[in-house]
Amino acid sequence: MTAETLLSTGATVEVHDVHKWYGAHRVLNGVDLTVRPGEVTVILGPSGSGKSTLLRVINHLEKPEIGHVSLDGELIGVRRQGDRLKELSERAILTQRGRIGFVFQNFNLFPHLTVLDNVAAAPVATGRLAKPAALELARDLLARVGLADKATAYPRQLSGGQQQRVAIARALALRPGVILFDEPTSALDPELVGEVLSVIKDLATSGTTLVIVTHEIGFAREIADRVVFIDGGRIVEQGPPSEVLDKPRHERTRDFLSKVL
Ligand code: ADP
Ligand code: MG
Repeated sequence: MTAETLLSTGATVEVHDVHKWYGAHRVLNGVDLTVRPGEVTVILGPSGSGKSTLLRVINHLEKPEIGHVSLDGELIGVRRQGDRLKELSERAILTQRGRIGFVFQNFNLFPHLTVLDNVAAAPVATGRLAKPAALELARDLLARVGLADKATAYPRQLSGGQQQRVAIARALALRPGVILFDEPTSALDPELVGEVLSVIKDLATSGTTLVIVTHEIGFAREIADRVVFIDGGRIVEQGPPSEVLDKPRHERTRDFLSKVL
């Protein structure tokens, strides 16, 4: 299979006026964000600013109190019925989620499955591919992330960097229109960060839409089309790295960057 057919065309993600709260705790306070096909968006912000919650809302792991998210124009988790929004069934939400890859900080691989089966699992479970085709796809994806020789290993036999590369291959197996990364390198020993960033960099140039929460500022400068700085559940500023990272307009952005750079 060629690289082009391995990966899907990037989707558009639109976040409209999303508010999320837990009791009295307001976590997202009116977030509007558009990510265009093939764009790489890096989200920066202090701990507790709502970055993970925003990714979880995009994937409908959390439901916003106000606002909505769409993928290529289709509402995530709900649909319009007249003036109202109606909840989708759990099954319909799962189908939508198949179009959104998620890479977690702590890899979240299935410990009892081999690397190959970890990558092949979702296309089989969702009925998209028969087992032999899923295994063939999984082999191609493992080769893409440089782990063709680890197919029969179990996650515990791999380094953190290797596990995260498997997690990325697994996220690609459903050919998602967008992949969300939540601090993909922050659980790794420093010497393993580079191998994961280089796999993400390879995806960044392939036309897949990526939304990446990271504190790796150098990496953001290199690959981001747009950097979004979030604080207190609000987007404080956004723009190309040359503006947000090098000429931030807001005091809060400057303060944050002075701490992480
Ligand atoms: P970040 O990823 O930027 O560090 P999060 O989105 O994880 O921030 O969290 C933002 C805020 O929301 C934090 O104060 C966190 O404690 C709170 N929060 C997140 N998830 C929950 C939850 N399920 N219940 C209550 N509070 C939550
Ligand atoms: Mg987080």
